[in-house]
Amino acid sequence: SSIKRIALVTGGNKGVGLETCRQLATKGLKVVLTARNEARGLEAVEAIRRSSGAAAEVFFHQLDVTDPSSAARLADFVRGQFGRLDILINNAGISGVDRDPILVAKVKDQVEGMDVNQRVEWMRENSKETYEEAKQCMRTNYYGAKIVTEALLPLLQLSSSGRIVNVSSGFGLLRFFRNEELKQELNDVGSLTEERLDELLDMFLTDFEAGKVDARGWPAAFTAYKVAKAALNAYSRILAAKQTALRVNCVHPGYIKTDMTIHSGLLTPEEGGRRVVEVALLPEGGVTGAFFEDGEEASFV
Ligand code: NDP
Repeated sequence: SSIKRIALVTGGNKGVGLETCRQLATKGLKVVLTARNEARGLEAVEAIRRSSGAAAEVFFHQLDVTDPSSAARLADFVRGQFGRLDILINNAGISGVDRDPILVAKVKDQVEGMDVNQRVEWMRENSKETYEEAKQCMRTNYYGAKIVTEALLPLLQLSSSGRIVNVSSGFGLLRFFRNEELKQELNDVGSLTEERLDELLDMFLTDFEAGKVDARGWPAAFTAYKVAKAALNAYSRILAAKQTALRVNCVHPGYIKTDMTIHSGLLTPEEGGRRVVEVALLPEGGVTGAFFEDGEEASFV
């Protein structure tokens, strides 16, 4: 086995994921860039090779995070190629909302000169939160990360310094939950189980479909996205407590100009990628079960 560390990124074909792959490869790691669409993934690998030179070691493998068989094939590939995995970065994600394409085309002019809060509010006004999108958001942002983590866990356990970085969001913080009991349950990770977490997400979707988001105190605005990221945070903390040999942390990349934000963000994908890479490459023996924002440990609440 090699001395070079091996990192794998989900949703690596664009945005924060692509930049994360590029920076890790530039720093001399072997990078497995994954994407659900093979053509888009291979194109991204080529783009990194062009910009970072032939020395950059980037490999491609298909991965749809919502598909357990796709995750199993990926694990076989990593096992055969490298025999272990050092760093898993769960980056793939979706917004959980529908947008009017006409407004999407106008976003650049519309948000010019607005501050963060005004931009987020503008985005909310032009987004439709549908049940289908909410369900897909849970499947991708929460269950997807879990499927991939479970498939690759045995390979991370073979690393001398296995790490998982979950690309979460400031929107996943518990302050957005208006139901105090729910908030406490999600924060009490000593008692919370993965089974209970699944139950809570089922409850959420039932409430969403019944139009009870407000009545039950779930987060307002970008509701499904916030719930999915809060669940991802809780799962990370549960996993960190169980897998004490690993380092399992969450990171908020910042408000980034990517397709997810229809480029309304304030920071570049390069800056977002840098924040993810920082957490992925924390010194040996660092914290686990933590949330990082702006390069510093911050509260999950
Ligand atoms: P992008 O929309 O630019 O990229 C999202 C990536 O996820 C794409 O590669 C997309 O692939 C992939 N993806 C979506 N669904 C799946 C799936 N089922 N299987 C595999 N890959 C999938 O978004 P960002 O780069 O902005 O987002 C990256 C992460 O950062 C997300 O988790 C997001 O929630 C988080 N984040 C982003 C913020 C921002 O301001 N941009 C703020 C806070 C957090 P495809 O091209 O095929 O659709």
